[in-house]
Amino acid sequence: MEGKYDYDVIVVGAGPGGSSCAALLGKKGYNVLLIDKAKFPRDKTCGDAVSGKSLRVLRELGIDKQIEKVQHAPVRGVIFSSPKGVQIDIPFRGKTYEGDREPGYCCKRIYMDNIFFTTAKKTKGVKTLEEFQVTGPIMEGQQIIGVKGVYVKSKKPDEFRAKLIVGADGAHSVLARKTGCVTTPDPKHSCAAVRGYYKGVSGPEDRIELHFIDEVLPGYFWIFPVGNGEHNIGLGMLIKDMQGRHVNLKGLMLNAIKTNPLFKERFKNAKPSSEIRAWNLPLGSYRQKVHGPGYLLLGDAASLVDPFTGEGMGNATASAKIASEIIDQAFRVDNFSENMLSQYSENLWAELGSELKTSYNLQRAGKWKFLLNLVIDKAAKKPEVREFIGGTFTNEEAKRELYSPMFYIKLLLT
Ligand SMILES: Cc1cc2nc3c(=O)[nH]c(=O)nc-3n(C[C@H](O)[C@H](O)[C@H](O)COP(=O)(O)OP(=O)(O)OC[C@H]3O[C@@H](n4cnc5c(N)ncnc54)[C@H](O)[C@@H]3O)c2cc1C
Repeated sequence: MEGKYDYDVIVVGAGPGGSSCAALLGKKGYNVLLIDKAKFPRDKTCGDAVSGKSLRVLRELGIDKQIEKVQHAPVRGVIFSSPKGVQIDIPFRGKTYEGDREPGYCCKRIYMDNIFFTTAKKTKGVKTLEEFQVTGPIMEGQQIIGVKGVYVKSKKPDEFRAKLIVGADGAHSVLARKTGCVTTPDPKHSCAAVRGYYKGVSGPEDRIELHFIDEVLPGYFWIFPVGNGEHNIGLGMLIKDMQGRHVNLKGLMLNAIKTNPLFKERFKNAKPSSEIRAWNLPLGSYRQKVHGPGYLLLGDAASLVDPFTGEGMGNATASAKIASEIIDQAFRVDNFSENMLSQYSENLWAELGSELKTSYNLQRAGKWKFLLNLVIDKAAKKPEVREFIGGTFTNEEAKRELYSPMFYIKLLLT
């Protein structure tokens, strides 16, 4: 390493995105500093659903089976309910994702993120620094050449330098804001959500449940099992849909639990096992700037959450993998310019763009109460419609068909 640099790469944020990026770079032989303001294990407000996409990178790092050593629930299907209160159960069939393992999991982030973090920490070449809050980049002209910040406990300032900085510091990313990639989050592309854990909710332990019930529309209410008889309960809504109305997400969630006929019996003996917390989801329904001279952004810092499902760990780890490949190329030619790193943005959108667009269209279709009632009603009566919806979880083509007008015309006529 040349004199003025302490590391090849500094990764800010050790969530699923930052930790997997650091581990992948360490495996390629780079000298990496992975910084987080928290001390691990740490919680992250989330629905805790770990999809097949997140499992891909976990498998590449050889740690997917570690989920089974901590509290978790395997997910073998999905339950939907319509604004009218009709409920359907769609089991995932066969080999849903690559291989013949469980199709997916729910695992509390306090455990899940610790698996990611300790994997990075154990990787040769990766040094970790916890409880250090990055406050901004160090600039040399237009180029970012390091980060500055403070030790959380002592408030002592410090600085670290590297040829490349990765911003994986989540929904409120300092690096995305200080580089001008995000100014104020756009309410059309940002979601607010609340989440709490409950023990003693009756019902299935191996299904994720998405309820488009009338009283929470245009948001949706979820019940996800996390193992050990515990469930993650939450409610999310697009910020644009909350504007101009008085929306209290926590109040809506508690009211649904208490009064909705689908849930009130199921929650009769349930007790909260945590407080209810709120957090933001930066959605991938627009193309945010994700690179510049000397830096890349990934995961929530790059606004990559699926606009329909609210899933973000899969795209955080997918972007980490793409970033690690481009960083490797940049080091091979010793070029960290904006132009060189623009390849990251291109590859990212080539891989994720079409799926994000499909999900954005579905998010918009999902606002039509009439359509939700129609699809869920028909699926309740017809196995072939349930089969088709089941396929949309693994098949991009089927997912795309779900927002084509012909699909709804066919449904109306059958
Ligand atoms: C209520 C809710 C429900 C969700 N449900 C799901 C779900 O079921 N499944 C799913 O896949 N996704 C879900 N998501 C989205 C998911 O949580 C995120 O997309 C995912 O955590 C993004 O990972 P990340 O690594 O980019 O960022 P994060 O996981 O947010 O990690 C960022 C890290 O950066 C650190 N950090 C932040 N600022 C600084 C700083 N200045 N200095 C140093 N460190 C810093 C933080 O401490 C943190 O450890 C949900 C989100 C919410 C809010």
